[in-house]
Amino acid sequence: MRVLNNIKEVRDQVKKWKYEGFTVGFVPTMGYLHEGHKSLIERAFSENDKVVVSIFVNPMQFGPKEDLSSYPRDLDADSILCGNAGADIIFHPEDKEMYFEDFSTYVDINGLTEELCGKSRPIHFRGVCTVVSKLFNIVPANRAYFGEKDAQQLAVIKRMVRDLNFDIEIIGCPIIREEDGVAKSSRNTYLSESERKAATILSGSLEKAKDILNMGERNCEVIRKVIIDNIAKEKLAKIDYVQVVDGLSMKVVEKVNKSILIAIAVNIGKTRLIDNFTFEV
Ligand code: AMP
Repeated sequence: MRVLNNIKEVRDQVKKWKYEGFTVGFVPTMGYLHEGHKSLIERAFSENDKVVVSIFVNPMQFGPKEDLSSYPRDLDADSILCGNAGADIIFHPEDKEMYFEDFSTYVDINGLTEELCGKSRPIHFRGVCTVVSKLFNIVPANRAYFGEKDAQQLAVIKRMVRDLNFDIEIIGCPIIREEDGVAKSSRNTYLSESERKAATILSGSLEKAKDILNMGERNCEVIRKVIIDNIAKEKLAKIDYVQVVDGLSMKVVEKVNKSILIAIAVNIGKTRLIDNFTFEV
């Protein structure tokens, strides 16, 4: 497995593979890889001849008060995980390789980026869509793999690919969790011991919502309240949002009469964690 920093090098290699008749799977990440990322890479490996993983902590998707400078990084450990999971190339560009000093072109998706995470992170999805567009042009893969952990991001990317006719198939992969239910995340490393325990409140509350849905509850406000009341029991937790939405538009839903996404964002101390699940009727 090779680590490439240069746009031309990775693009030429991917083009060559495709010319030779190989299919290419692509997994965009910000590094500090864990089992969640690994599941994406393994899926890409199982469905394609070649696999490219990008590791780039994209400054454009972080707000001024967010954790860009403290975001965890460990290329050595990431290389081992990528190699074991079947990756052929890690694309690991420096900021200046990705952004010219006078960079001035952005990809902005309206509507569904203004809900949920878009409310508390107003520039986030513009940064995500811009960098993912660039990455799709740099790595002209057949398929790209994204986690359902970031359900809104997955919906946004699917919309972008549809609207802008990117020639790539977007594949969503299930959330990988720790044994106690906490969704794996590079940001979990920020949590102190007590905060890590408190983080179980996210998945625990979603489980409670799942239970009442399975018992037949169809009123979204009731479901929301069950989650909110449960999170309130945890002193270290502060809700950013708890929403029951349509999984495509991210618009709030009142009655569960079709597939819905229940998405939550909760601050545990200074760390903002997200979790979700989709309920099919
Ligand atoms: P990140 O490095 O956090 O930008 O994530 C890169 C990709 O990995 C995104 O598509 C995420 O949705 C996905 N991902 C992160 N955590 C998980 C997880 N616990 N399970 C599944 N996919 C994940």
